[in-house]
Amino acid sequence: MTDRFADRAAADDAADPLAHLRDQFLLPDGLVYLDGNSLGALPRAVPGVVADVVSRQWGTELIGSWTDAGWWEAPGRVGDAIAPIIGAAPGTVVVADSTSVNLFKAVIAAARLMTDRPERNTIVVDDATFPTDRYMVDEAARLLGLRVRAAAPDDATALDDSVALAVYCHVDFRTGVLYDLPAVTARVHAAGALAIWDLCHSAGAVPVGLAEHDVDLAVGCTYKYLNGGPGAPAFVYVAPRHQGGIDSPLPGWHSHAQPFEMSQQFTPVDGIDRMRTGTPPLLSLLAMEAALAPWQDLDIADVRARSLQLTGLMIDFVHSELGGRVEVVTPVEPAGRGSQVSLRHPDAYPIVRALIARGVVGDFRAPDVIRLGFAPLYVSRQDVVSAGRHLQQVLDSGEYLAPEFAARSTVT
Ligand SMILES: *Cc1c(COP(=O)(O)O)cnc(C)c1O
Repeated sequence: MTDRFADRAAADDAADPLAHLRDQFLLPDGLVYLDGNSLGALPRAVPGVVADVVSRQWGTELIGSWTDAGWWEAPGRVGDAIAPIIGAAPGTVVVADSTSVNLFKAVIAAARLMTDRPERNTIVVDDATFPTDRYMVDEAARLLGLRVRAAAPDDATALDDSVALAVYCHVDFRTGVLYDLPAVTARVHAAGALAIWDLCHSAGAVPVGLAEHDVDLAVGCTYKYLNGGPGAPAFVYVAPRHQGGIDSPLPGWHSHAQPFEMSQQFTPVDGIDRMRTGTPPLLSLLAMEAALAPWQDLDIADVRARSLQLTGLMIDFVHSELGGRVEVVTPVEPAGRGSQVSLRHPDAYPIVRALIARGVVGDFRAPDVIRLGFAPLYVSRQDVVSAGRHLQQVLDSGEYLAPEFAARSTVT
């Protein structure tokens, strides 16, 4: 039997100018990996660099590597390498800590930029945000004596004149909804507040345009679409106009103007390095730097086009072949979605487990979402159709009802 989806996918993959990028990743043969929105695949360039960092930079050169291998400057250097991917200028992005910690620093630093406006006593936070973001905003507000108001990024009514800052996710991690960052940022500014964006699910998949759209501060992960590796440190962005006023709640010796004077007095360094804290995790940081190799000469607009072709194909497949047995949660209109397709089914968890047993790796998000991420650098259209056919067979056969797929593992 001919499979018109598979035939078309094979032809389109063969004609795709970005198809060669997959060769820059080490993926197990036959695996359909649709979880690059949670942990990106391993770039081919990484193992050799990590081996060199461990055996030569650490093993042989030892402490001299802080200077000779550029360890001290690495957070800013890697930040500058990420900057074009998120539309930021050199000197506005630094890699440090985790997204959770960076968001805490960003929220408090932004609130401190507003201390001359004491009537603005409210932080608006995305009401569907990733939980860690909410915990950090709540805690920052508690320390600062501010109130928290939860609202969707597209809820303009939340932005009254009590708002000091708004913290939103560019792409909703559960549904894959992409918010209109330019319009929302403009609305936050029109309301007299600052806009902080979490780019975890857009950096490396969707054009962001931080500078062009006047974003105030932003944070994001590097281990999702940027493929930096498990536990890779996160990035933080501060617009040039705010850098002089940044007062971090976690000043450390790496954000000091003269770190080796070992002064008891904190004097902040100028520039984006002020968002650093202490010693970075260099093995992870330098692995992350190597992981950016596929981005050489790559335009995020082309990456976005490919991402939309992949997610669009998945949505078409579901509508055409799965006959309403799963609900497409992610917006069908391209402008409204990130690089994932979320499908709703009451048995989402065992279905995800059954797919993994077949070599199709997606993930589950409570309570009922099958989440399929389409990392545009290495997922092919043939992967999309293969995942769709496996999903169809899992649903047809009822194999997901087998008892071994019912028990929840620690990480879903
Ligand atoms: C993945 C993700 C995080 C993870 O934060 P960590 O500090 O790296 O654990 C935070 N926020 C959002 C929106 C995410 O998608």
